[in-house]
Amino acid sequence: MLMSYKSGFVNILGSPNVGKSTLMNELVGEKLAIITSKAQTTRHRIMGIVSGDNFQIVFSDTPGILEPKYKLHELMMKSVSSATVDADLVIYVTDVAEKAGENKDLLSRFRNKNIPVLLIINKIDLLTQEAVNQLAAEWQKILPEAEIIPASALLKFNINKIFDTILELLPEGPPYYPEDTLTDRPERFFVSEIIREKLILNYHQEIPYSVQVEIESFKESDKLVKIRAIIYVLRDSQKGIIIGHRGEALKKVGKEARLDIEKFMSKKVYLELFVKVSKDWRNKERQLRGFGYR
Ligand code: GDP
Ligand code: MG
Repeated sequence: MLMSYKSGFVNILGSPNVGKSTLMNELVGEKLAIITSKAQTTRHRIMGIVSGDNFQIVFSDTPGILEPKYKLHELMMKSVSSATVDADLVIYVTDVAEKAGENKDLLSRFRNKNIPVLLIINKIDLLTQEAVNQLAAEWQKILPEAEIIPASALLKFNINKIFDTILELLPEGPPYYPEDTLTDRPERFFVSEIIREKLILNYHQEIPYSVQVEIESFKESDKLVKIRAIIYVLRDSQKGIIIGHRGEALKKVGKEARLDIEKFMSKKVYLELFVKVSKDWRNKERQLRGFGYR
């Protein structure tokens, strides 16, 4: 008997911080999306592609759903809506802290378009079995046609079940990308994301939301990658904080980023970081496009 080939675009949506990026990385098996405990860590739509003998799944991780406050937010939300038009399957991630029925209106759009929804109740490691069952029952009442799976992306609980359910729900179709493709993003994108992750982790208050990283040059040879990156901040005072006393703070960021980039590239890395002030980069659309928002 001939096995049919299944393929499709699986878009991961949900509120900020529910575990979308953690789940996608588990499903793809690679750390593609940066994950931190701060909301709005994911700013772009990032694809992760998994190919098997008779299937190809093109996952998209998206920024969390939020009300736009800045131009940056508007562009982030555009990438959320673009993820709603081309989906063969939507994975809506909620967690045990969110009330059943959150973002119901968005979810009803998929019903109208006949796009199946797989609802993941994540972080069940934080709740009793009984309370999880209760929450699942409430969601099932609100979305009778959705498939619901409780999970813990962090503890890798029910990841295989989610994967098998995705394969069941996907339509038959051809592969969309060559089989060895892992992502639609170039290496330098991941390098800038690794640097941004270290900035989010090392600074507090408004800094994580005020930084942008641009890779100015990226020169790769057999054994070494030389990278010059610019960290953009909104104000002079932030520049001082990023650099720190005698440059110690920036040195720490640079070292942590370099170690991760070396792992990611499997090569020695020489990383130079510069800090520049770009007043109000969040509202300048042209500059944002230059940074890769689309
Ligand atoms: P996103 O904003 O939806 O992409 O969420 P992230 O994947 O960045 O995760 C947000 C935070 O939740 C991080 O601190 C994760 O480690 C944490 N997290 C993700 N999945 C789980 C889970 O299953 N259980 C618990 N306890 N924490 C989780
Ligand atoms: Mg994320």
